[in-house]
Formats: sequence, C-alpha cells, structure tokens
Amino acid sequence: GFKCGIVGLPNVGKSTLFNALTETAAAQAANYPFCTIEPNVGEVAVPDPRLDKLAEVGKSAQIIPTRLTFVDIAGLVKGASKGEGLGNQFLATIREVDAIAHVVRCFEDSDITHVDGKVAPIADIDTIETELMLADLESLEKRVDNLSKKAKGGDKDSKEQLDLVNRALSLLRDGKPARFLERKPEEERAFRMLGLLTSKPVLYVCNVEEGSAGSGNSFSEAVMARAKEEDAVAVVISAKIESEIATLSREERTDFLDTLGLHEAGLDRLIRAGYELLHLITYFTVGPKEARAWTITKGTKAPQAAAVIHTDFEKGFIRAETIAFNDYVSLGGEAGARDAGKLRLEGKEYVVADGDVMHFRFNT
Ligand code: GDP
Repeated sequence: GFKCGIVGLPNVGKSTLFNALTETAAAQAANYPFCTIEPNVGEVAVPDPRLDKLAEVGKSAQIIPTRLTFVDIAGLVKGASKGEGLGNQFLATIREVDAIAHVVRCFEDSDITHVDGKVAPIADIDTIETELMLADLESLEKRVDNLSKKAKGGDKDSKEQLDLVNRALSLLRDGKPARFLERKPEEERAFRMLGLLTSKPVLYVCNVEEGSAGSGNSFSEAVMARAKEEDAVAVVISAKIESEIATLSREERTDFLDTLGLHEAGLDRLIRAGYELLHLITYFTVGPKEARAWTITKGTKAPQAAAVIHTDFEKGFIRAETIAFNDYVSLGGEAGARDAGKLRLEGKEYVVADGDVMHFRFNT
C-alpha cells in the first residue's frame, strides 16, 4: 500500500492529527475496518461516496474502502541530520514513505511553546527542509567516491548514476530540494533508487485555530503561497476540531460539521489531497459479497491493476470486463450495463480509468 509520513517541528499538532486520523478510522470500524499496525502507524479508509452508491446498486453485503497508511514521524528538530533528536532513526522511516505530510503550526497559543519562540510557518518549513536537505547531501556525498571509481573503470550504469548524483548535489548545495531536479523519464528509476528524503512529494498541512478551520488565516495563506511556488499541495485543517469529532459516528459528524459551517471533515480533505499528491486513482470490484475499492497509480494497465487484488490475476490475465462508474449506476448494475452495450472487454494494454468497475478474467 501507499504510505504517507507525517513530519513537522515539535508542538505543531502532529500527534493530535495522527490520533484523530486513527480514532476516526476506529470509530467508523463497522463499515471501515481499521488497524493500527504499530503505535505510530495507522491505516485510514479513503472516503469515497461512489462506493456506497455501487454497494446499493450492486446489492453488496459489505463495503470495503481502499486505504492509505499514515506514519507519525516524531523527532524532526533542528540538528536532526547531525544526529540530534531521534536522528537517524526517523530519517530511515522517512526514506520508506511515498509522500510527506508536513504539518505546520498556523495557530497562536501562548500556552503551547513554539520551539523557536514564535509562530512563523515559513521559517518552520525551511528548518525542516534544511534538515532533510542536509541528510540528503550527506548520503549523496558518501556515494561519490565509489561511483567515480566504478565510472572510471568503464561501468556505464555507474557513469549515469554519478551524473545524476552530481546534478542532485549541486541542486541541494543551492538550497533546493531534490524533487526539483530536472530529469529525463528514463532517469526516473535511478532517481528513485537514490532514496532521497527531499525527493518525495510534499503536502503542507496548515494546523489553524478552530475559528479559522473554514477560511484559513494569514499564516496558512503564507503556506498556501509557498506551496503554489513549489507546485506542492496544501490543506487547512484544525487538528483540535478533528480530534473532537474523531469519536463521532458518521451521522453525528455531519451534524457537528454543519454547526461549524464546514462542509467536510478536514481529515477527509487531507486523505484525498494525499491521494492526489501521489497520483493515485481508484477502481472498484462489485459483487453480492462486497463492493470494494482498490488503489492504483494513474496510468496503470489492466494486468498490473489486477495484481493489486492478487498476483495470480496478473500472471494468468486474459481480459477485463469494464464498466464506467456512471454507466454502472445509471444502468442499474452489471446486467443493465451489458444489455446497453456498456460492458467493455479490455485487454492487456488497457489503461484503467478512475472509477472503473472491473471484473478480471484469468487462467489459473
Ligand atoms: P506534536 O509535537 O507536533 O506531535 O504536537 P501535539 O499534537 O502533541 O500538540 C502539541 C500541543 O499543541 C498539544 O498540547 C495540543 O493539544 C496542542 N495543539 C495541537 N493543535 C492545536 C490547535 O490547533 N490549537 C491549539 N490551541 N492547540 C493545539
């Protein structure tokens, strides 16, 4: 599955947010099976109203949403790349995630100490990013000697890698994160293999006071502007509100949000933003037993999409019977769609679209 790491300076609301995420998931456990893998790792259901619709039309007994994993990565402080705070331990955890949710303190509260003495979201972002860039610099510098030797010895792969490493180094020395590195599509794999912390896509989470949850405030506006410059994504959220509504049922939640003048829980927006950031899409399988959502990366072809369910589905792939979400719903399900000629037979090269209802045929 896909993993999103929650980072940020101490006292910005990371744990509050993480706990709200996992409690929400737990509170909705009837419909949304949830598990805590480790104390700081939780899986959350990706909210998707289409799934309820499909279950209704397909008369499915159970609804199983797709999930995203969130990891609370504590211990990122100034000097972390030099081993302060939790040091290397959390750097290793960050290496494993697909994206970073960077929580930024956008609320004033004289009772809650800010590590640098004042609320300054842009400076905070720079502090964290600097630590991550320093860690990347160090890990790349360690590799240069070895790669140079191999490249001199005539190894073509090493030569290409060295070129990539040197370009990344010069970018980082300029104070820019590695995700800005210009690279050719054929270099993407090697780039990923470098496992750089600043190569991950970033989602800024502006933690604002309760009154600003709908509109944001001047701090969150500054973060929004920064995100725009960087081609990153930002969401405004009040961790406090989220933790208050975390234990409510779905219905109670809607009522509570209404009274606050909010349309949607911040967590739902956060989860969806994470989904978009990773270029993820959802396809569905629908039957009497269950209506279920599955996550794939945009551009995935049918056999690889099938592998998410079971690797045998990919190995023995014959074809995919595919119905677009709207057709499935408006034509009353699979039989109706088939009669209307809206059930398509797709082969190995079919690129699965968001919302497709799929039925895979395969040899065992
Ligand atoms: P972490 O160190 O980043 O994990 O931060 P925590 O989630 O532990 O929060 C630190 C403190 O800030 C706690 O006392 C929280 O209750 C408080 N806090 C978190 N979010 C908010 C908020 O939006 N407004 C206010 N006033 N306090 C908050």
